[in-house]
Amino acid sequence: MIERTCDTLVECGGYALAAIRLTPHAADLNPESDTLRALRIARGQPSLLWSELEHLRQPTLAVPLDYANTRHGELRIAHAPGENAEFDAAERELLESIARSLAFATHALRERSRQRRRDDQLRQLSRALESSSNGVMITSSTQLDHPIVYVNPAFERITGYTAQEVIGNSGRFLVRDDLAQKGLNEIRACLRERREGQAVLRNYRKDGGLFWNELSIAPVRDESGGITTHFVSIINDVTERITYEQQLEYHATHDTLTGLVNRNLLNDRIDQAILMARHSGQLVGVMLLDLDRFKLINDGFGHVPADNLLRAVATRLAHCVRDTDTVARLGGDEFVVVLGSVADADSVASVAAKIMRNLALPLDVEGKEVFVTASVGIAMYPRDGDHGESLLRNADVAMYRVKEHGRNNYRFYAPEMSHMALDRLDMEGNLRRALERDEITAFFQPIVSFENGRIIGAEALARWNHPRIGMIPPAEFIPLAEETGLIIPLGERILRLVCTQLAAWKRNGSPPLRVSLNISARQFRQQDLPELLTRVIAETGVDPRQLEFELTESMVMHDVENAIAMLRELKRIGVTLALDDFGTGYSSLAYLKRFPIDVLKIDRSFVRDIDSEADDAAIAHAVIAMAHSLALRVTAEGVENEAQLDLLRGYGCDDFQGYLFSRPVPAEELSLMLQNGRSLATLPR
Ligand code: C2E
Ligand code: CA
Ligand code: CA
Repeated sequence: MIERTCDTLVECGGYALAAIRLTPHAADLNPESDTLRALRIARGQPSLLWSELEHLRQPTLAVPLDYANTRHGELRIAHAPGENAEFDAAERELLESIARSLAFATHALRERSRQRRRDDQLRQLSRALESSSNGVMITSSTQLDHPIVYVNPAFERITGYTAQEVIGNSGRFLVRDDLAQKGLNEIRACLRERREGQAVLRNYRKDGGLFWNELSIAPVRDESGGITTHFVSIINDVTERITYEQQLEYHATHDTLTGLVNRNLLNDRIDQAILMARHSGQLVGVMLLDLDRFKLINDGFGHVPADNLLRAVATRLAHCVRDTDTVARLGGDEFVVVLGSVADADSVASVAAKIMRNLALPLDVEGKEVFVTASVGIAMYPRDGDHGESLLRNADVAMYRVKEHGRNNYRFYAPEMSHMALDRLDMEGNLRRALERDEITAFFQPIVSFENGRIIGAEALARWNHPRIGMIPPAEFIPLAEETGLIIPLGERILRLVCTQLAAWKRNGSPPLRVSLNISARQFRQQDLPELLTRVIAETGVDPRQLEFELTESMVMHDVENAIAMLRELKRIGVTLALDDFGTGYSSLAYLKRFPIDVLKIDRSFVRDIDSEADDAAIAHAVIAMAHSLALRVTAEGVENEAQLDLLRGYGCDDFQGYLFSRPVPAEELSLMLQNGRSLATLPR
C-alpha cells in the first residue's frame, strides 16, 4: 500500500520524489521493517536515505500521517530540482487528505494485527492454565466478596468442586469455618493492599477432606497499570510434604510406645508452664515417677507384656491429670507429670496421691493380676528450680530418697537431699584425673556399605577405662563432661587418638577408613576448633578426608549463621560432615539445604521399630529418599537384626552400623576384622 501510494504520487502526480515513513509502533514486534520498507524513493534516487531528505535543495513538503491522536508516520514530497514551484493550498489539501487516508488505513491494520497477537497470547495462556498441575483460581477484585471468575481443571481435581459450582462465589468456601489460621491474615492483607503474597493454609475439598494449600496470590492490573481488576491464586497441594513433616515432628517429640510426650518436648512444656505460672503468680509441680521393680516384670513376662503394661500405666497417668497438664515418658519405666498453674504444694500432693491410688489397682498381664507401684519425686517451681533441667534433677533426687526409704511413695524435694550432689563433685574430680591419667579411650564401631557389604569406616566412641570399675559407657560421663567443660580436653583427646590410630593403620598398609567423631555442642562453639584440627592433622599426617565430624541438629540450628560459617571452615580443611541422630530434633529438610552437610545419620530410634511400626518404616523410607534428593549419603544407626537390614537396603540406604555387624570394639579388634576381611557376606547367620 505504501509502495503503491509513493509510485502513484510520482507517476501520476509528477513529483520528483515521494517517501513515506511509518513511525515504529510500540506494540509492533519488528519496527525496523516498517521504516525500511516504507521508504520509497523514485526517479533515479533509490539510494537516498530518509535522513538525507532534510538536505534536499528543491522544495519539499512534509505531511504527518495522523489518525485518532496518534502519529503513524510522515509523507514527504519533493519537486524536481530547478522546478522551483511551491506547493499551493489546493495541492496541500489534496496531499493532506491522502495522508489522512493512509493514516486511517495504517491505524486499522495495526489494530487488527495487535488484536490477533493478543488473541494468540490469550490462547497460549489458557492452554498453559488448562494443563497446569497447580490449581489456578481467578477472582474479580472490583466486586464485593471477590467472586471467582475462572478456575482451571487442576483446581477442580484438587478441590473436587467443578467450575460451575464455584464461579460467582467467593473463594472463602475453601477454608470453611477453619478461620483460626495465621496464613489467612497474610492473604487478607494481600487482598487489602493489592499486593502479592504467599501462605500455607488448611483447605477443604468438596468431600470435606483436608488438604494443605501453599497458596500464592498476585494482583492483576488493568492496561493502565493503576487499577487491580483481578487476583490470580495459584493453589499448590503440599499435603504430602506437610504430613511428612508432621510425622517427623511427632516422632521427634513423642514416645512411640505410649504416644506420650518424650524428653525433647518435655523441657518445652515445663518452660511453657513456668512462663504461665510467672504471669499468674502461681506454681508448677514437676513429678518424676519411676515404677518399682519393673525389671522383675520385664524379666518375668518378657518384652511384649511389659510394653503393654507401660502403655496401661501411661493411660492411667493421663486420666489423673487435666488436659492442660503434661504426661511424658523419659524412657524405660520413668515418667514425668507436669502440673501447671497450681496454687500450692498441697494440690500437687493430692494429684500424687491420686496417681498412686490409681496405679495400685490391679493390671491384667497375660491373664494374671499384676500390681504396680511407683516411687515419685516432686520438685516445685519456683522453690526448687526455675527451668526444666534443675526441676527434673531435683525431682530425681527426691525420687531416689523414696526408693531408699522403701519405695511406693512420694516425696517433695528438700535442699538437704542434695548431699547427693557430693557424688557429682566426686565424679567431676574423678573425670578430671581420668583425663590426666589417659583413662579415656576410644572404641570403634564399623560402618558397613550396603553396596559391597564391606567395612568402609568406623565411628569413634569414647570409653572411660576406670581402673576399679572397668569400662564406663559415655552416657554416664559425657553429660557431666559437657556441663563442666571437661568435654573440651576430652574431645581433643579423642581427636588425637583417632588421628594417631589412622596414621598407624596407614603405616601397616590397611585400606584407608573414614573415622567419624562425635563433636559436642561446646566443642563446636570453640572458635579455635579449626586450628586444633589443622594442628592435629599436621602432627599426625592424616588425610583430612578420612575424618568425619558428627554434629546434631540442635547444635547447628541454635545459631544458624555462626554454625554455617564454622561448618564451611571445617569443610575447607577437608573433613566430611554428618548430621547425627536425624529425626530426633528439628528435622526440617528445608533447613538442611542451607548446611554444607554430606551425610545424614538416621537415629537409632527409627531403626529399632522399623520392622514392626509401619509409621517408622514410612518415615525412614521418606527420609532416605529426601536425603538422596539433597545429595546426602544416608547411614542408619543401631541395626540389630536382618529384618531391619533388609528393609533399609530396600529403601536405598547407603551405609549402616549396629550390633548385627559389630559392637564398638577396641582399635586392635577392628584391625583384626579388616585383616580377616570381615564383611556382610562372611557374617555367621
Ligand atoms: P551416638 O552418637 O548416637 O552413638 C551411637 C551409640 O549407639 C553408641 O553408644 C553405640 O554403642 C550405640 N549403638 C551402636 N549400634 C547399636 C545397636 O545396634 N543397638 C543399640 N542399642 N545401640 C547401638 P555409646 O557408645 O554408648 O555412645 C552414646 C553416645 O555418647 C553417642 O551416641 C554420642 O552421643 C556420645 N558420645 C560417644 N563418644 C563421644 C565422644 O567422643 N564425644 C562426644 N561429644 N560424645 C560422644
Ligand atoms: Ca554419633
Ligand atoms: Ca547417633
